[in-house]
Order: sequence, then C-alpha cells, then structure tokens
Amino acid sequence: MSGFFQSSYQQARTAFLRAVQADSRVQWKKALLHPLHGAEAEPLALDAVWLGRMDARRLLVLQSATHGIEGFAGSAVQVAVLHQALTLPEDTALLLLHAMNPWGFSHRRRVDEAGIDLNRNFVDFSQPPENTGYKELADALIPAHWTLEALATADQRLADFREVYGEQIYEEAVSGGQYTHPRGLFYGGRAPGWSRLQLQHLAEELRLAERDAVAIIDVHTGLGEWSVGEIICDHPPRSIGVEWARAWYGDAVTEPFLGTSSSVPKWGLIDFFWHQLLPDRCSFVTLEYGTGSTEQLFNVLRADHWLATQAVGQVDAALKNRIQAELLEHFCPAATDWRQAVVQQGLLRVRQALEGLSKV
Ligand SMILES: [Zn+2]
Repeated sequence: MSGFFQSSYQQARTAFLRAVQADSRVQWKKALLHPLHGAEAEPLALDAVWLGRMDARRLLVLQSATHGIEGFAGSAVQVAVLHQALTLPEDTALLLLHAMNPWGFSHRRRVDEAGIDLNRNFVDFSQPPENTGYKELADALIPAHWTLEALATADQRLADFREVYGEQIYEEAVSGGQYTHPRGLFYGGRAPGWSRLQLQHLAEELRLAERDAVAIIDVHTGLGEWSVGEIICDHPPRSIGVEWARAWYGDAVTEPFLGTSSSVPKWGLIDFFWHQLLPDRCSFVTLEYGTGSTEQLFNVLRADHWLATQAVGQVDAALKNRIQAELLEHFCPAATDWRQAVVQQGLLRVRQALEGLSKV
C-alpha cells in the first residue's frame, strides 16, 4: 500500500498516467498545462480523467494536491483506486483531478506560484474578507530573521495573543485566510488563481452542474491526529451535504461550524465552489490525514514562508535543508504505517462514497 507513494511530482504524475493508460474504463482525459515548469524543469499539469459513462447522473470526484505538497498522499490514493479497478455502480462516473496545484506539488510548497493558498481563493474578490487578527500577528508569524532570538520575541507575541483571545480565535486569525499579506500564511490572493480558473473550465466542459448527485473527496494532510483520516464537512449544519456525508461515512464526519473538527471555520474554501455549483446535490468532504500538532503545522509553514521570501544564496544551506525536510515530513511523513493508513482509508472512503451515491 505504501508503495503507491512517489518521491516527486514528476514520478507521481508518471505513475498516475500509466495507471490511467491501462484502464479500459477511461472515457475522456485532458492535461491542463500550467504556464510554468516544475522543480526538475518538467512540464506541470492538472490532469483530469473521467471513468465511466460521460452522461452519468451520479459522479464521484477525487481531488489531490489542492495544497501542492500534500499531493503525495492524494496521488497515492488516486493511483490505488485505479489499481483496485473498483466497479462503478450503474449510472455513476468517477472524475480524477490529479494535482489541482501542480506547481506547489512539484516545488514542495503548500501554496501556488503566486503564494496563493488555493483553499482560501474561492471568495468574491469584490468584497474580500477582512482578517484583523492576522494583520496584528503578521510580523510575528513571519519574522524578518529566522534566528533563535528573533523567534523567541515573535513566539512571545503569539503566546500573548493566545492568552488574551483563546485558542479558537488564534487559529482562526492565523489559518482562517487573509487577503492582505501575499507573502504570508494562508493568503487567499487578490483574484482567482490559475487552479480556480481551471476548475471553472472543467466544470463547464464536463457539464458538472447538470449531474443529479455528486460526491467530492479532496485529500489533504497535516492537520489532526497521526494517521487518522478525518472527514471534514464544511456544508452548513443540517444541510443535505452533511446528511449525505453522515449516511455514507458515519461517525468519522466532523463539522468546523459545530466545533467538532480539527479545523476551524475558514474563508474561500474550494468546497464553496462545489456547494454553489450543485446546491443540495453534492456532498463535499475534505479527507484530512493528521501528521503532527497544529502548532507544528504553523511552525513548519512559518519557516517555509520565511525561506520563500529570502533572496537566493542568502540562507545558510543547512538551515534551508532543515526547513524543507521538516516541511516535507510534516505533510508527507516517511513512516510506512502512516502511508498504509492513508491508502487504506482512502480506498474505504471511495467505496463508501460510491455505495452512498448509488442510494440517492
Ligand atoms: Zn491541505
């Protein structure tokens, strides 16, 4: 199972396309080419593949690498699904979206080439949300220097904020999304990013809005308990989207709006694109595999964002390597048990979604 994990975007894409090539159920595929190249000068693409009838009324969508570096896990699940050759129920198709953010996947960053967190990019940019907490903490989150002294001062400011406002408000300020600091954490952008535009094109070309029932599973890593695949559902409480998720996936479903999730409520989620496209006809879940604490998540991202804003050659090579290694280990742990758990739970959730769809 852990053998489905690859060590680069290029290898992951090759394994994915090879599995697609061998699958007779594939009816349509398209490589949406990114304008930039990858870390190994390879071409970058969002690969979209459709299995089953093109006019199916029901559809399961599997998304990977919405947060670039988290794509190792999502890609492994997609390739495992192809290898399992699961039977698609009647009138049900499967759409695989491999590498929503291929630049981030290849360059091993969570954000895209413009520093945008795709999962905060789905807002109405004529009225972007305001995150005053982030503004207050911006300099402490990404200090000018990455030294023990500078970090001690910055960390004290963060601790003071937590002390005054509490953990929930702190996490919302840091990770809820912000639209003012392009070099900062969880930055949603000033306009729709490349990946959002590709998703809009695909939805039109594949006439997704015309389907009767759609399940979407977006695979993420880095938040929550080690190797547990939490099913985070950001549909409004008691809506059909939540109802379907609970019926299909059971107690694993958590809801940020009810405070039952590792995730706090956030702005601009990719979920909202699907909710709007298919009101009352879709159930979108984030399959979020835990790796380490939220504090560790914030710290590896702070270091990564600090590194990304430094001029080439300005950073000590050992420090750079350590920051990049810690980032990768947080979002794609090397441990075999974690990787096996990712694939096993991914396959289970795909089977449950297909079975659930067949009953609506
Ligand atoms: Zn993520």
